[in-house]
Amino acid sequence: MANIKIAIVGLGKIARDQHVPSLHSSEEFELVAVASPHGKLDGVPNFSDIETLLRAMPEVEAVALCTTPQVRYDIARFALQQGRHVLLEKPPGVTVSEVLQLADLARQRGVSLFASWHSRHARAVEPARVWLACREIARVVVTWKEDVRVWHPGQTWIWKPGGLGVFDPGINALSILTGIIPGPFALKSAELSYPSNCETPIAARLSLTGPRGAMTHVELDFLQTGRQTWDIDVETDAGFLSLSMGGSVMVVDNRPVAIPSTTEYSNLYTHFAELIHRGRIDVDVAPLQLVADAFLCGRQVDVEPFAE
Ligand code: NAP
Repeated sequence: MANIKIAIVGLGKIARDQHVPSLHSSEEFELVAVASPHGKLDGVPNFSDIETLLRAMPEVEAVALCTTPQVRYDIARFALQQGRHVLLEKPPGVTVSEVLQLADLARQRGVSLFASWHSRHARAVEPARVWLACREIARVVVTWKEDVRVWHPGQTWIWKPGGLGVFDPGINALSILTGIIPGPFALKSAELSYPSNCETPIAARLSLTGPRGAMTHVELDFLQTGRQTWDIDVETDAGFLSLSMGGSVMVVDNRPVAIPSTTEYSNLYTHFAELIHRGRIDVDVAPLQLVADAFLCGRQVDVEPFAE
């Protein structure tokens, strides 16, 4: 089968770090163009925006939207209307309603839409889901603490509405949580810490109830220096599971579990290709819904201004 011709829209950090190398080594896709206001990629035609790109290269069948979240909806809507398959980087939009609208549009147009959650493709996530499937969940603790100055230097969009603040990485934890534990989670309370010069939180604490009332505590912090923590600990009726390193390491009852080596973004593109071949969409708003609920009910705490 011929490779799917794909373009990247938004050539920033994640596009360069993950999407470009994954597409270059993909057997399913051929990276044929880029649209980005400033970024340029050697070896392919570059355009400043998606409209110009699709006009100049009608052969492009799919687009991967790696822009900042605030501009994603309009670009996705345009691409779907033009009959292109669309992969959305996480978060899939700035509101739940706009993502659901995109899903409807993709169905109407008969094209694939993949609202991707890259952390769900981390190598220990599927083994964790399988291990948990036949156990009763007693309690979950999520600890996601990283240094924003190291991982997001100069990304001022994170502090603007729609940029999510500490939920930008925190939503990865919620995507794993809702991926490995079946059944809906309900947000019960939240405390969000806002620096006086930012419009999004720099830290957050959430309390949720999981399946059959299992309590879940989520602690997110963007000011962690030293050891970085991306952990999910699950106490069950038959053992204790610990996922660490963002879903890439699994320990059960203090014993490491051997996990086959795979790469998040190559798995993600394999899944996108399957969706295209089968004419399906994959849009799960559960992680974004929990973040939206935290903004709906969260108590605001004022903290020190943030200086990069
Ligand atoms: P970034 O480095 O700030 O890159 C975002 C890019 O979006 C910018 O380089 C900009 O391109 C482009 N852009 C802005 N408006 C555009 C428009 N109208 N049309 C086309 N391109 C536009 O941010 P990032 O870290 O790559 O993050 C982007 C998304 O990926 C976020 O949703 C983030 O949550 C997600 N993500 C990031 C990481 C990570 O480690 N950084 C990991 C996984 C997922 P120009 O530079 O050309 O102006």
